[in-house]
Amino acid sequence: MKSVGVLALQGDVREHLNLLDSLGVATAEVKKPQQLELVDALVIPGGESTTIGKMAVRFGLFEPLRLAIEAGLPVYGTCAGMILLSGTVIDADQPLLGSLDVLVRRNAFGRQNESFEAGVDVEGLSDPFPGVFIRAPWVEKVGAEVEVLGSVDDHPVMVRQGRILATSFHPELTGDGRIHQMLLDLI
Ligand code: GLN
Repeated sequence: MKSVGVLALQGDVREHLNLLDSLGVATAEVKKPQQLELVDALVIPGGESTTIGKMAVRFGLFEPLRLAIEAGLPVYGTCAGMILLSGTVIDADQPLLGSLDVLVRRNAFGRQNESFEAGVDVEGLSDPFPGVFIRAPWVEKVGAEVEVLGSVDDHPVMVRQGRILATSFHPELTGDGRIHQMLLDLI
């Protein structure tokens, strides 16, 4: 059976574990470097990217995580997870894994639009995905290897680069497992 880990330092870890459970895979919280070696794929949840990054550094997870992704571990970052995976963030000084060749803007939809829902047309899915956005980033610029799989108002909110998948929105809050299934398909 495939085993999928959720980086469990801060953020909506439980919601991801529940959704993954519903897809019939084994799940595990990942808090230590050794636990990373036991999973076939990893989710980096939403939360506060600065906090998750700093905690990963403090727990000695940051570098092992970066190396595991570089070695091909399939990974899916939602919201703060997308920010952590990125190469550059506008106007922010925080630890970034740099695995995903994108420039990201944090809290990009602005104060008027802190939280909202929007149907997102996702490449490869027949019906729009119910996108839940909470102080979400968007992708401002993508590198040559990055595919844009979904956008809102022409701003990319879902991207893929090899085995790295990222969304600005939160499928774990919807019960819709189609995007988590895409991660499983990358294993
Ligand atoms: N605004 C948060 C950040 O910058 C992300 C919000 C979220 O994950 N829902 O890290």
